[in-house]
Amino acid sequence: MPTVAINPEALLRVLIIEDYEEDALLLQRHLARAGYKVDARRIETAAELKAALEEPAAWDLVIADYTLPTFGARDALKLIQKSGIDLPFIIVSGTIDEVSAVNAMRAGAHDYVLKGHLERLLPAIERELADSALRQERLRTEAELRLAQQRFSATFNQAAVGMAHTSIEGRFLLVNQRLAGMLGEPIDKLLALQLRDFLLASERELDRTIHAELISGGRSGYRVERTLIRHDGSTFPAQLTASLLKPDGHLHPTVLWVVEDISARKAAEKETTELMTRLINSERLAAAGRMANTLAHEINNPLEALTNLFYLLQTHEDLPSQSRELVEIAAREIERVGHITRSTLSFYRKLPGRTIDLRTMLEEVVQLFQSRARQHNVKINTRYADDTSSVHYDPALRQVFANLVGNALEAMEGRSGSITVRARLAGGFAAVTVSDTGHGIDQANLQAIFEPFFTTKGERGTGLGLWVTRGIVEEQGGTLRLRSCISGKRGTTIRIRLPINAPAKIIPALL
Ligand code: ADP
Ligand code: MG
Repeated sequence: MPTVAINPEALLRVLIIEDYEEDALLLQRHLARAGYKVDARRIETAAELKAALEEPAAWDLVIADYTLPTFGARDALKLIQKSGIDLPFIIVSGTIDEVSAVNAMRAGAHDYVLKGHLERLLPAIERELADSALRQERLRTEAELRLAQQRFSATFNQAAVGMAHTSIEGRFLLVNQRLAGMLGEPIDKLLALQLRDFLLASERELDRTIHAELISGGRSGYRVERTLIRHDGSTFPAQLTASLLKPDGHLHPTVLWVVEDISARKAAEKETTELMTRLINSERLAAAGRMANTLAHEINNPLEALTNLFYLLQTHEDLPSQSRELVEIAAREIERVGHITRSTLSFYRKLPGRTIDLRTMLEEVVQLFQSRARQHNVKINTRYADDTSSVHYDPALRQVFANLVGNALEAMEGRSGSITVRARLAGGFAAVTVSDTGHGIDQANLQAIFEPFFTTKGERGTGLGLWVTRGIVEEQGGTLRLRSCISGKRGTTIRIRLPINAPAKIIPALL
């Protein structure tokens, strides 16, 4: 049994139930001689005992004479027990017989000492004080344990995520309300089931190896995304996090599962993917538009010359009439070609006039990439000077910024890092820089990257982004500069300068 050290220097508060003042003083002297600092009070009646017990300062010990005229040790014991206070109680009496002593001990007294053998009193006191301290320590520990249990059960039951403890084979041992709600099955029913009963059949065996590693202590936890089936047969995507709980002693290890319904996250990811597809499509469309426009321009000039030539031919006087007819047909066809190129040009001509302020445009673009960036562990920092909301540009620039941020992100896939988008106004220009900490651009490719269809991304790239970007920037009267580094963490920085408040130009890109 552990011992509790008694500190004799500490004040010992003793209630002495005794009708002889002399005997009480004797006891006090005896204790003082043993080195105790004693704060003793002699009482003789039930009323005095009650009052003493109600005092705020705690008593350490009761020493009681066995029989007082009106109030004896047994009455005192009853009173103390009724009060619920755990106080060492020692009977010191000149006149106690064996039977009474045994009865008193049964009634709850801790020891008895005859007045003639006071040398037994000190060891009895020390032992009882130590026992009492131990009892109190145990009570405190039990209270702490109860509190810990209450905390655990509140956390477990009110958690916003599903939680369960299972045996290492996966049988439910403890399930919280949230998980029961997610699975659509009451807790008591779940306790007869296994976690795998709720997994899609095709996914049941997927984690066998990793789970075996967990059980063998090779890893402390793992996390997977799985499809769970509710009681009603409907399914939802969930993230399962497993950790091994290894209790001390002979108890079996268990597995703690945290189950999160990730439907909302999945939906958001799907939305981003769709947005990205739309973005790529709009990039392709913009490119196709530019291409058609360039072609139309290129065709238009020689066409003009041809039209003039045919006109001259038609007016030639010595042209045989058969040839004249052929020339007329040819001129009409040429006219048709002209019509096609002109309508192509006007089709890709955007309506001028609608503009967006620079800051909003950048914020919208960055917003579009946030979730993809998070998935790749990339942080997008933005630094916009306040006055950037005061300048307005053609919304076609959205495509430019989206291309740059998209490229930056793609340059960092699999390596994490950060993208910084800055915008400020200075010297009649708005400057927007997009820098990344990605893999950079090889010196050998620097010229080629602005060419249409040049890509280093294989199937995943279109090779049109930078080509369209440069086209749009130039249409807006702006310039583009690029700095890139393939070693270290600097990556690529692209800076675009746009004249402030230039009237929105008609540009041929489609958005
Ligand atoms: P795509 O992105 O479809 O490949 P782009 O015209 O947007 O086409 O880019 C062309 C090429 O330029 C990319 O394939 C890539 O090699 C390179 N590139 C563009 N931006 C970056 C960047 N921020 N970091 C590294 N390489 C880049
Ligand atoms: Mg690109």
